[in-house]
Amino acid sequence: MHKDLKLFNDLVEFLLSEEKNNPVAKPIETDLLYKTLDLSLNEHPALDADFKQTLLDIVKYTPKTASTSFFNQLFGGRLSKATLGDLLAVMLNNSMYTYKVAGPQVGIEKSILHNICKIIGYKTDSDGTFAPGGSMSNLMAMIMARDKYNVTVRNEGVNQKMTLYTSEASHYSISKNASLMGIGRNNVRLVKADDHGKMIADDLNRLVKQDIEKGYLPFFVNATAGTTVLGAFDDIASISQVCKTHNLWLHLDGAYCGSVIFSNRYKSLVKDIELTDSFSLNAHKMLGTPLTCSIIVTQHKDQLHHSFSNEAEYLYQTDDDAFNLGKTSLQCGRRNDALKLWTLWKSVGGVGLEKIVDHQFYLADVARKYIKEHPDYTLYSFSDSISICFNYKDISAQDLCTLLYQNSKLMVGYGTFNGDEFVRMVTINTSLKEEDILAFFTVIEQFVTDKKLISSY
Ligand SMILES: *Cc1c(COP(=O)(O)O)cnc(C)c1O
Repeated sequence: MHKDLKLFNDLVEFLLSEEKNNPVAKPIETDLLYKTLDLSLNEHPALDADFKQTLLDIVKYTPKTASTSFFNQLFGGRLSKATLGDLLAVMLNNSMYTYKVAGPQVGIEKSILHNICKIIGYKTDSDGTFAPGGSMSNLMAMIMARDKYNVTVRNEGVNQKMTLYTSEASHYSISKNASLMGIGRNNVRLVKADDHGKMIADDLNRLVKQDIEKGYLPFFVNATAGTTVLGAFDDIASISQVCKTHNLWLHLDGAYCGSVIFSNRYKSLVKDIELTDSFSLNAHKMLGTPLTCSIIVTQHKDQLHHSFSNEAEYLYQTDDDAFNLGKTSLQCGRRNDALKLWTLWKSVGGVGLEKIVDHQFYLADVARKYIKEHPDYTLYSFSDSISICFNYKDISAQDLCTLLYQNSKLMVGYGTFNGDEFVRMVTINTSLKEEDILAFFTVIEQFVTDKKLISSY
């Protein structure tokens, strides 16, 4: 083990230097991948030196998600206290299903869940778990809602025309989950979003009433805190009103920006969150922990248990259910995703988490200000969002993003809303500073000049 830890350190030192010197790894064309790197698996063991060289090559060509040039996805950066926790979790290698096997790690997970419930004003009947991603958190919420609506579904399967509702700007996992859980994609109703990307509660109400008239059985509404493209926050109070009227489960998908609950300044973006039945967030997005760190909490502890518990004599042999977390989780064997958030939270405190969140909004303000002050840019997104959507000199966003990547300049993606296609940069990497944001724009401008890119229109 010590020898491999030394090797690990060498690899990490190389990674850190590459992140600095080559922040956008040279992409390998897929048809050249197996020629460029030795990814083969052979009958005989690799020599130590070759093994190390291959690993160094792999590190070199792997995209650098913690570099100052990565703006591509809804995660990025590296907070060392969180990375430390995850490395420790790998070494400890517990499975979170029982207290007997995970010991204090169970307490760590429960402590995070308890604190999050408290912060958002969930009452004593609340509980939660860690899911393998935001999509799966949404699946868990949808399953709880389904089982609450009809207690026999667990045994008999779905045999009613059940419908659910989410905005057209929401994450694709809602439709995908509907197909996984026997509801069916055709029974997902897409509610209209307004000009700012927020769900229109009146349209929700109209769709629900229309379905009831036609004999469908509405049971679930998904609202979003941070939509995938614009980073918009749905208005919880007006949506909750519709849910109360028709007795629908309200879930808030905060995978992207649910972490605003840690900020005194920005928690108003999820005002009335205590009216929801369940809420999920990805700490590996705004809080900057390593992937994956996805949390779901609910005000209906019994429902979580009802939907996900299973008796298993070979597994649950000691301790009470409250400490045997397998009784409320999606999986059986389950990775310890809690420790990395706990080490971060413990070391920086609640005030530290608040700073992490606030800094991303600050960086977003810097970016929006720059765009507004420079007439060659068009802005498509709005304030109070860490997604900044823009076009430069009417150059095709798709072409620009692809060329920047192929030329190892920047990793940034594009999106569409209301028929407009634009570059979507995300200021989610808390380690960045104002100058990194300004450098992002300089790189684009310089690149467009050097390559003599011209407007597509
Ligand atoms: C990222 C995201 C998800 C999916 O989370 P995964 O961890 O990638 O499965 C769901 N909803 C929203 C709003 C997201 O931004």
